[in-house]
Amino acid sequence: MNNCLPINIAGEWRDGRGEEYATTYPATGEEVARLRAASVEDVQEAIEHAHHAFLQSDWARRLPHQRADVLYRVAHLIRERAEELAQLQRQDNGKPISETRALVASAAGTFQFFGAACETLEDIITPSRGEYVSMSVHEPMGVVAAITPWNSPIASDAQKLAPALAAGNAVILKPAEVTPLLSLELARICEQAGLPKGLVSVLPGKGSVIGDVVTRHPLVKRVSFTGGTSTGKHIAAIAASKMMPVSMELGGKSATMVLEDADLDHAVAGVLFGIFSSSGESCIAGSRLFVARRIYDEFIQRLVAGAQALRVGDPAAESTQMGPLITASHRDRIERYVAMGVEEGGSIRTGGVRPSGGVFERGWFYTPTIIEGLSNQARIAQEEIFGPVLVAMPFDDEESLIEQANDSVYALAAGVWSRDFKRAWRIGREVQAGTVWINTYKQFSIATPFGGWRDSGLGREKGRQGIFQYMEQKSMYWGTNEQPLAWACIQGGKQ
Ligand code: NDP
Repeated sequence: MNNCLPINIAGEWRDGRGEEYATTYPATGEEVARLRAASVEDVQEAIEHAHHAFLQSDWARRLPHQRADVLYRVAHLIRERAEELAQLQRQDNGKPISETRALVASAAGTFQFFGAACETLEDIITPSRGEYVSMSVHEPMGVVAAITPWNSPIASDAQKLAPALAAGNAVILKPAEVTPLLSLELARICEQAGLPKGLVSVLPGKGSVIGDVVTRHPLVKRVSFTGGTSTGKHIAAIAASKMMPVSMELGGKSATMVLEDADLDHAVAGVLFGIFSSSGESCIAGSRLFVARRIYDEFIQRLVAGAQALRVGDPAAESTQMGPLITASHRDRIERYVAMGVEEGGSIRTGGVRPSGGVFERGWFYTPTIIEGLSNQARIAQEEIFGPVLVAMPFDDEESLIEQANDSVYALAAGVWSRDFKRAWRIGREVQAGTVWINTYKQFSIATPFGGWRDSGLGREKGRQGIFQYMEQKSMYWGTNEQPLAWACIQGGKQ
């Protein structure tokens, strides 16, 4: 008997023609679902069908408030099924239930926001310099692709799907191979909300096999990618060869800076949340910590005590703050980084081991880890670990602080903790990063653009303008002249 979960190819729910594989619950290693991945042929079929659906359905031509209606229904359906989706997301990637509930709520909010943005977005009439009315308008692109990672599937899918659909496009969604379940549910919800059939396909499978096919396909007019920097660069190179716009939400090694006048209660809580929530599997994790030398010892002592008090464990338990890591191989990679940090001369102040006994015997758990004694040049201070590992360093003055904070190929986010609002503002402006939090960390509004500088990415998601990422801009001139254009006219107005 075929017990594979069907996937959504070209508007049909069926098995892919790729390899059969199982997804597993990171907390226990148990199988959650079995699927047949999409094959190269499936991808081609889905893209051609999406192109057809874009041209033949009325989606792109619906009035903005009519498209918005569907997006509002998606938001409503997500909210109706919120608890079920949050539990499924927990099983899909092992995040604690309190966190997956927040991700589901954020996905609903994203559809609602882009519905509202869709129906209130304005084109502009530009100042005329002749006998015409000139306008700048926007058109949908056609088929766009969204490629997403495993760490927050429902939220990162929504951040791409909602604006792309609001803009009137068809979407090919390629989730991470290990976490396809929420993407498939989102496709079902879109269908139920009244989205024309075939406008969205969800294609689970290996990125290295089908991701390239998606990116290279001539009918795909834009790729919106969230994932690692090296994959992003690979996709951007393909995009350049076909002159295709891309947006890239990539890795990070974000600096958190605690000044001597910081409110230490707030700073300790913020730094712990910044690095250890989501088990550090977060692009914006505050993984490099700079603390003013005068308060360094006291601060690290409090931070270590806070890290040791974190509740690591069963993601289904309401009180759990840190669940397991995504896979056994990802945990191995984190362990290699920690060993490298020690080889480089660092000392582990806390963590650096797998917890043992009980629930920890089966899943891919790792303790919150703080390493000190290294310079900002150490590899573990420069490379993205994507796990619960914090590198802590003292700093002496503002100039060296900013120099070190900016000394990274990444520039995704930064945090400043200080009671001196002028100094915090100055540092906030000097630090190079797509997002700066002052006296808070990891807070997000869907209305505020998000993205990185340098190796952390290209383009911005979120915000009303986020819809324009999925549209082509067009200038229109509408003649209002009473006489024919003068150049081609002979005297008296006759040719
Ligand atoms: P990857 O880059 O390995 O994968 C991301 C997605 O790309 C997956 O769906 C993957 O598929 C797919 N992919 C892999 N190879 C290709 C290819 N050649 N062509 C097209 N698609 C491909 O990243 P991870 O999954 O390891 O995610 C972690 C990374 O994501 C971290 O570096 C993190 O910083 C970054 N990230 C950035 C965020 C941001 O907003 N800036 C937010 C969240 C994460 P498959 O899994 O099937 O291989």
